[in-house]
Amino acid sequence: MLNDILTPQQLTQWIALIREAKRVVVIGHFGPDGDALGSTLGLASYLYGMGKHARVVMPNSFADYLHSIPRAEHVLTYDRHAELITRHLREADVIFCLDFNTLSRLESMCAIVKASAAKKVMIDHHEAPDDFADLTISHPKLSSTSEMVFRIIWQLGGYEQLTLDAATALYTGMMTDTGGFTYNSNDPDIYFIISQLLRKGVNKDQIYRNIFHAYSEGRMRLMGYVMYEKLEMLADGRASVFALTAEEQARFCYTRGDSEGFVNMPLSIKDVELSVSLREDTDKGLIRVSTRSETSFPCNLWAAEFFNGGGHHNAAGGSMPCTMDEALVRVRLAVEAWAHLLPEKKKK
Ligand code: 5GP
Ligand code: MN
Repeated sequence: MLNDILTPQQLTQWIALIREAKRVVVIGHFGPDGDALGSTLGLASYLYGMGKHARVVMPNSFADYLHSIPRAEHVLTYDRHAELITRHLREADVIFCLDFNTLSRLESMCAIVKASAAKKVMIDHHEAPDDFADLTISHPKLSSTSEMVFRIIWQLGGYEQLTLDAATALYTGMMTDTGGFTYNSNDPDIYFIISQLLRKGVNKDQIYRNIFHAYSEGRMRLMGYVMYEKLEMLADGRASVFALTAEEQARFCYTRGDSEGFVNMPLSIKDVELSVSLREDTDKGLIRVSTRSETSFPCNLWAAEFFNGGGHHNAAGGSMPCTMDEALVRVRLAVEAWAHLLPEKKKK
């Protein structure tokens, strides 16, 4: 069984908000990942089942392999449907903000959400949430926002009505945010939840293949290139960095999502605690930073200190408005500055 996720006061607030609401919009963050999509589609399905007019909206479009999530084709993206989304947000009674803790993660959609008179509910698992919502449900220790949505539905007695599509979406979010249950996933409750999702008919093996075995040939070749040519070891083999320039992205016909997961790979090298990837984003004139740690190194604090970013303890990101060469210099300095937080090398 699961402990309640909503406090009695939050539960009262939730019930009052939902009772009044007819039109709800469920939104995720810019650069939607599996958890953003899984959690929003799962919650929207639950709300739809309660007779609400529920829409899922994202600030921009997402990688092809995420289209395998049931009903992903119904997600509206602001880069393509700005006018329609603006209307939905303006007319909404409640806006659910999922898998982000600050409105700035909505990028160009931020102002419209801010301006909307709708009540706002945040459901999120990132640390230190901003205080913009009427109801803030924040659980940084939980694996994913999708897990939070399941727990909310469970507490509200909605499990029986949960559809297979919604269960599949929630499972996908939990799976992707834990790297296929290989990190951030020691809580036994996760496996109780999975068992309840499997009871709904979720095909977890198929979901794994849909997500992790659906890459392009170009991505595989890019991965080989990056690991062979670009990986630089730092801090006596306890950290690494690689960079992907705009020219290299063009050379390998890069499309969104093609480098997804690359940053995790160096962690499989013995003694590597911290992995950093840099990617040139010419549209925005920025270098995007992704960081991952294996155990104790606090990626979120490090990204906040050096890369205008944040995130989770073991997975964080940020950006720098500079050239790739300058970004690499900064990463090397930042690793050196916090190298005392990298665990000692293991004995042979
Ligand atoms: P990724 O490396 O997959 O882009 O991001 C990993 C995590 O870091 C995400 O879950 C997100 O929470 C966080 N993150 C990524 N980029 C940023 C950023 O620019 N600012 C903040 N605050 N968090 C970020
Ligand atoms: Mn998440």
